Amino acid sequence: MPRSISIVMPIYNEEALLKELFERMTRVMDGIESEFRLACEWVLVNDGSRDRSFEILCNFSANDRRLVVLDLSRNFGHQPAIQAGLEHASGDAVIVMDGDLQDPPELIRELVRSWLTGNAIVVAERRSRAERGIKGMMFSAFHAMLGRISDLKMETGSGVFGLMDRRALNDLLKLKERNRFLPGLRTWVGYQQAHVLYDREERAAGKPKQSFTRLFRYAFDAIFSFSFKPLRAIWTLGFIVSFFSFCYALFLVIVRLLHINVVAGFTTPTVAILLLGGIQLISIGILGEYLARIYDEVKQRPHYVIREIVRGEPATVPPALVATGGAL
Ligand code: UDP
Ligand code: MG
Repeated sequence: MPRSISIVMPIYNEEALLKELFERMTRVMDGIESEFRLACEWVLVNDGSRDRSFEILCNFSANDRRLVVLDLSRNFGHQPAIQAGLEHASGDAVIVMDGDLQDPPELIRELVRSWLTGNAIVVAERRSRAERGIKGMMFSAFHAMLGRISDLKMETGSGVFGLMDRRALNDLLKLKERNRFLPGLRTWVGYQQAHVLYDREERAAGKPKQSFTRLFRYAFDAIFSFSFKPLRAIWTLGFIVSFFSFCYALFLVIVRLLHINVVAGFTTPTVAILLLGGIQLISIGILGEYLARIYDEVKQRPHYVIREIVRGEPATVPPALVATGGAL
């Protein structure tokens, strides 16, 4: 009989929305405890925030024993922060979600309900996303591309938001790779997976904390960790170029043998050199992406460093004061 769940959230410079997050999460956890008779644990990973996030989280935890605040020694990034949370979560099922309220806490109830019907993994799938414009287009293009090229059949509409039961989580934690793409690893683990649809909201406050460079890196991690197709594409490209070069050489020999006088210009050699140069550089770049990741893996550095773990304590002050982070 399952008895507890953990909710893992990475937090990086989110002071502007923590109050709302705490209020909504408290309501959701209270509801789950009374409806399903499950104990809740809320693991918040402070990923080296430079604002007052950590202080506010500690204030919350001083009045709610369900909280566990992991303070990382610096900013390690979204995926390492989630990894830290997963390794420290103790629940029979663990839910991962972003801490910026783009993943609505109210959906946790649906995830838990689906888990209790026997699904080992429940993925929250976006029916719609809040990102518009160029960013929205890039997200769609990335998911379409990943769906096509990954060696594993990948879901396209989901991010990190979802639930895993203890068995699936333990298997996921055995995957030690450093360049992590959680939605892919979760698919890799297998088990019976269910989906719950939701509308991705705007973040409650503040700006996105992941820069474009980080998002690109994350996208590359997804592609290179789950596909050998770029390497095979180089091979195919090399083959095609060699084939045409051979045909062209044959053509030149025949022209010579037939004593046809062709005036040699510089267009053909120039185009050939530029084309081949470009293809070679791209190929080296692709090899480099794999090589850098191999290098990163062999170094075997830990994914993160924890400075401090703050565990929640039973409430001593009225809830109204807690909701303000003790700042009244
Ligand atoms: N985040 C983090 N470390 C980082 C960047 C982001 O822990 O270096 C957290 C952030 O606080 C938020 C979640 O990861 O809870 C998702 O970040 P963000 O909203 O910036 O990403 P996006 O929604 O744009 O993918
Ligand atoms: Mg966000």
